[in-house]
Amino acid sequence: MPSINAERLMSDLRHLRTIGAVENGVVRPALSPADMEARRWLAGRYEEANLETTIDGVGNVLGRSRNSGPALLIGSHSDTQPRGGWLDGALGVIYGLEIARALGEDADTKDLAIDAIAWQDEESNFMSCLGSRSYVGGITPEMEAEAVGRDGTVLSDAITAAGLADTPRITHVDGRYVGYLEAHIEQGAYLEDAGEHIGVVTAIVGIRGMRIRFHGQQNHAGTTTMARRCDAATGLYEMAYRINQEFPKVATEPTVWTMGQVQIEPGAVSIVPGFAELSLQMRDQDEAVLDAFQKIIADITVDIESRGKIKVEVEPARAPIRPCFMNDGFQAHLARAADVNAPGKWRHMPSAAGHDPMVLQAKLECAMLFIPSIAGISHDFAEDSHDADIVRGCQVMADAAASILKEATGA
Ligand SMILES: [Zn+2]
Repeated sequence: MPSINAERLMSDLRHLRTIGAVENGVVRPALSPADMEARRWLAGRYEEANLETTIDGVGNVLGRSRNSGPALLIGSHSDTQPRGGWLDGALGVIYGLEIARALGEDADTKDLAIDAIAWQDEESNFMSCLGSRSYVGGITPEMEAEAVGRDGTVLSDAITAAGLADTPRITHVDGRYVGYLEAHIEQGAYLEDAGEHIGVVTAIVGIRGMRIRFHGQQNHAGTTTMARRCDAATGLYEMAYRINQEFPKVATEPTVWTMGQVQIEPGAVSIVPGFAELSLQMRDQDEAVLDAFQKIIADITVDIESRGKIKVEVEPARAPIRPCFMNDGFQAHLARAADVNAPGKWRHMPSAAGHDPMVLQAKLECAMLFIPSIAGISHDFAEDSHDADIVRGCQVMADAAASILKEATGA
C-alpha cells in the first residue's frame, strides 16, 4: 500500500492556510482575489505532482493524472465561509493532491490514475456548490444570471474580474471515472466524543422545511374570555410542544429538527394574537423518519382544528433535499482501510452538513470520509483538528483509493 508523506501533507495545508489568513482563520470567499490566488497556487502544486492541470471558467482546479483510466476523482472545495476555518474544504483538497503524489511514488500503485480537484464555491458565496453544479451541467442561464455574491457582485462580473470570462468550463464526460472521494472535517463532535478517529459517511442527510401557519381571531386581551378567544399563538405553542414530545419517539440518534423562527401577530401584550407562524426544519438520512414527522404534524393539525378555534395551514418552506447515499462498495474499501489504520476507533455515520457529493452524485458514485473536529467547532476561526488525525485520515483514504482502483483495473 502507498505511504502518504505526512510532512508534505501538513506543509501544503499550512501554506494554503496563509492565503487569505485572518487571525487564526481564513477568509477566501469564492472568486475573491485570495480565492484565485489559492487556486493558482494549487494549480502549481498539481503541476509539480505531474498532473495535467486546468483552472476552468468558474475556477474549478482539476489536476488530471497522465495515466489512462479508470480513474478516481478526489478533492473538495478550496473556497471558505466569509469567516471560515482553515480545514473546511482545504483538508479534502490537499488530500487529493497528496494521494495522487503518494500513489505515483509507489511502484505498486504508480500506474493507477488519481485526478485531484478543488471545486468552486461550495460555501454559497454566489451559489451553493457552483463548481460541482457547473461540472454536472446543473446550472441554467437563469440561475447564473440571478447569482449575486454576498458583497453584491454579480457572478458574471466576478468571473470576468478573476480573468476567467473566456475560459472553458470542465464538464463531466462519462467513461473516465470509477467515482469520487472526498474527505472533510466532521464539523460536529460525534467522533471526538467517542474517542474515534475516522468516520465513514453513509449518507448526506435529507432536509425538509415546513412553514406552519395558525389563523385565529385578533381581539382584546382583557375583554375576550378564555372560552371565546381564538388565540392563534396557542396553536403554535401546542404544535411546538407536541413536536418535541412526539418526534423523539421516531427519531434516531443523528436525527435533528429545529424550530428556528416564529412570528406572532400583531405581537402586542394586550392583544390576543390573530396569526402565528412556525418554521420547522428536519434532517435525517432516512426518508421514513421524515415521512413519520410529517404524519405527526398532520395529526396534531387535525387535533387543533377539531376544536373549531384555529385554522392550521402546513406548507413546504423549501424544496426538499433528498438524502444522498454513498456508494456501498467505496464505503467497504474505506472501512477496511479504517480498520487497518484506526482499529476499533472508527464508525459509519451520516453527514448532517451538505457537501459537493449531493450534486456530483447525478454523474458519479461518491464516498466521503470524516476526521474529528476539535470540540466539534467549524464555520469559525477556531476550527481545528489534531495533526495525527489529519495524517491518519489521508492514509486511510490513500489505502482505500488504491484498493478501489486495483479492483476496478483488475490489478
Ligand atoms: Zn466544506
